[in-house]
Amino acid sequence: MTILIKGGTVVSSTGRTVADVLVDGESVVAVLAPGSTLLGHDLAASVETVIDATGKYVIPGGIDAHTHMQLPFGGTEASDTFETGTIAAAWGGTTSIIDFAVQKAGERVEDGLAAWHDKARGNCAVDYGFHQIIGGVDEQSLKAMETLVDEGITSYKMFMAYPGVFYATDDQILRAMQKARELGLMTMMHAENGPVIDVLAEQLYNAGKTTPYFHGIARAWQMEEEATHRAIMLAHLTDAPLYVVHVSAKQAVEQLAAARDRGQNVFGETCPQYLYLSLEEQLGATGDPTWGDFEGAKWVCSTPLRSRAEGHQDAMWQGLRTNDLQMVSTDHCPFCMKDQKELGRGDFRAIPNGIGSIEHRMDLLYQGVVTGQISLERWVELTSTTPARMFGLYGKKGVIAPGADADIVVYDPAGHTSIGVGKTHHMAMDHSAWEGYEIDGHVDVVISRGSVLVSDGAFHGRAGHGQYLKRGLTQYLV
Ligand SMILES: [Zn+2]
Ligand SMILES: [Zn+2]
Repeated sequence: MTILIKGGTVVSSTGRTVADVLVDGESVVAVLAPGSTLLGHDLAASVETVIDATGKYVIPGGIDAHTHMQLPFGGTEASDTFETGTIAAAWGGTTSIIDFAVQKAGERVEDGLAAWHDKARGNCAVDYGFHQIIGGVDEQSLKAMETLVDEGITSYKMFMAYPGVFYATDDQILRAMQKARELGLMTMMHAENGPVIDVLAEQLYNAGKTTPYFHGIARAWQMEEEATHRAIMLAHLTDAPLYVVHVSAKQAVEQLAAARDRGQNVFGETCPQYLYLSLEEQLGATGDPTWGDFEGAKWVCSTPLRSRAEGHQDAMWQGLRTNDLQMVSTDHCPFCMKDQKELGRGDFRAIPNGIGSIEHRMDLLYQGVVTGQISLERWVELTSTTPARMFGLYGKKGVIAPGADADIVVYDPAGHTSIGVGKTHHMAMDHSAWEGYEIDGHVDVVISRGSVLVSDGAFHGRAGHGQYLKRGLTQYLV
């Protein structure tokens, strides 16, 4: 299949230019000046499909480097399967995801990884890779880390939160980081002081403070700052690169900035929910008559939504501008209110943690361009180019250039997107965390390895199109 994407503004992380993009098979083969006759006088007549992108942006497909399809959590399972979640991703202009294979204490890493391959294989509509969660650091799992790079898994995640589930102690983190340094693996960290948070949560519960709002109070910013700092110090001690996931506290960004200023290989991601949503407005919401003071459960995630009065959201935008935060992923981990979030009615501690955003990341970040928070080029960098470089996909992904996979989105800045159930909403959820959001801009065409997945408001892809991405090492170390 040959495709010519004609007349659009091709945007990269470093600039923009009006150009024609020629796709042959699964790859980009040429980026041509408009009207170029280098490949013939009427290229449009010689290709099978012509896409007119005049007045639109042509960008590399989005890469969401933090998703949890059908993750078992809190006695239930994330409601998007690899099929429904990746179809929603495609609708929103995301053509690659990196999900997390899970190993827990007492389990073998190899078994966890095999189980996640079984869940994803043949079911994804877009390409997918894995990070490895090491939820139980012991002799066996440390040994198993040695095989990860050969499996195309060059990053693993540990948790300083969730005692009894995924929690790693400082001595375990030290050992894993030493191993990661030796192997070249990127250490990803959920940086919150879990044991302290659990005590605060119990005290709040015992005091009758049981609604979703108190999820945000229990998970105090001090415990994100403290854990972020501790992770940075352990990384410094072991000379291991560190990537802090879902940063939401402005004080955590300050810790990252200070470490980066010292020359440390420390990186941070934030998520759309920490840019837009807040403790006061969402976790404290009571406006939905079906749910009353339990409505905030829709937005229970960890790290939690933070106080707008304290300025965390503005600090996240600033971190993205100053490059103290390098990426925006979703931490997509959807749960329905009915039968899932409901498990925590009367006890916020039992609400499954997670928000679904995979479909809206590109649109939501584009609003930052519209409002002047970030540049058009930075939008592409945050959502595609940096994820590709950070996690060993660059060249094939994250760029529109000859030889790259033809993962391309045609984005219409003059279009409009209404988010919400019954409107734009393809995730397997009975509500939207983004209900009522009106987006300036629209994902018009989505191409994955030369196949048109979305065009003319219709989905043309299929489960099984997506291939496993064996990833290389990060390109970001200084
Ligand atoms: Zn996490
Ligand atoms: Zn996560």
